Amino acid sequence: PSSKLPGQQESIFSKMSRLSAKNKAVDLSQGFPDFPTDDRLKELVTRAMNSGYNQYAPMAGVYELREQISNKISKLYSREYDPEREITITNGATQAIYSAITAFVGKGDEVIVLKPAYDSYEPTIKLNGGVPVLIQLKGKDYKVDWQEVKDKITSRTRMMIINTPHNPTGTVLSREDMHRLEETLKGKDIILLSDEVYEHLIFDGQTHQSAALFPDLASRAIICASFGKTFHNTGWKTGYCVAPAELMAEIWKVHQFQVFCINHPMQRAYAEYLKDPENYLGLPEFYEKKRDKFLELIDGSRFKAVPSGGTYFQLLDYSEITTEADTKFAERLVSEHKLATIPISVFNIDNRDNNQLRFCFAKTVETLEKASEIIHRI
Ligand code: PMP
Ligand code: GLN
Repeated sequence: PSSKLPGQQESIFSKMSRLSAKNKAVDLSQGFPDFPTDDRLKELVTRAMNSGYNQYAPMAGVYELREQISNKISKLYSREYDPEREITITNGATQAIYSAITAFVGKGDEVIVLKPAYDSYEPTIKLNGGVPVLIQLKGKDYKVDWQEVKDKITSRTRMMIINTPHNPTGTVLSREDMHRLEETLKGKDIILLSDEVYEHLIFDGQTHQSAALFPDLASRAIICASFGKTFHNTGWKTGYCVAPAELMAEIWKVHQFQVFCINHPMQRAYAEYLKDPENYLGLPEFYEKKRDKFLELIDGSRFKAVPSGGTYFQLLDYSEITTEADTKFAERLVSEHKLATIPISVFNIDNRDNNQLRFCFAKTVETLEKASEIIHRI
């Protein structure tokens, strides 16, 4: 049969998780915590199930949860999203991204994607007949070249995707970057898809520059978020998107037929849990400590850290050890040394290889210590 995505490979996350399990490796590859989610949250899910919330949720999500999200955004980013019309609960951020792209990108429409990029964007654009227009982030600190963005905008540009804090590099867009973005898109009919799943994982006193903070960006932005990242339960696959009502109305046309609605009891639980901001405001400090612990543990090894200002990922440069391709080196690390990581060339234009691997530090100190013992032996 013909393929809608010829040449599409198995996701690197499936591949490395498979190799990690096969080799019984220390797994710092796919991004998920290896410590438990809060007991209170699990109790809230159980309570929701026992209270009978076991049938379909409303199409756009449980109203009380949308209300809590609206309150949270209002407090953090001073923008009001109407829970009735401007917020949708989705099956993780992945489904929010899929629905958003599908709602707006059609045959021949161009979408600007900054590379390296999270791996779901391009296949989703292509499945909708769109054309990814790729721009490589520049230099060792992976900066956006705003002039290049400007130059690559055409009359066919329908959407631009940003991701801050950024997977896989851990870089963060500054206020200045957001102003440049605002200026670049001003007066143009371009939708902004802002992937902010790591909004609470931001370090060194930086503050998250949500698209919601900037009026001209917010008026065109679909902002995606993920409870899996924020509440240490990626397996619950619950996230959301917010957007101005006229954009959300189009997203609903897709969402209602893609999934109709998502799991009901988890939504009830999160609605209750979000009432206490303490449940997320401590996250930057919590993960900054983990990052610093990991950096301290690997210090003196032949892996060199590339600064990470956010996310729960740390890039390490291994060029002192070998010049072999990162995909090959990652395979050798997992099979010979029992350490699973993610090679980042797979997220780059033309698989450009910078001899860097991505390590997830959302792990217990014991796991990080085990990983660092291996790292020091290489
Ligand atoms: N965007 C980025 C940048 C991510 O890293 C991830 C998760 N790895 C997602 C979206 C998807 O999030 P979710 O697991 O909630 O679908
Ligand atoms: N976001 C996770 C990561 O970057 C993976 C999610 C997935 O497997 N699709 O590791």
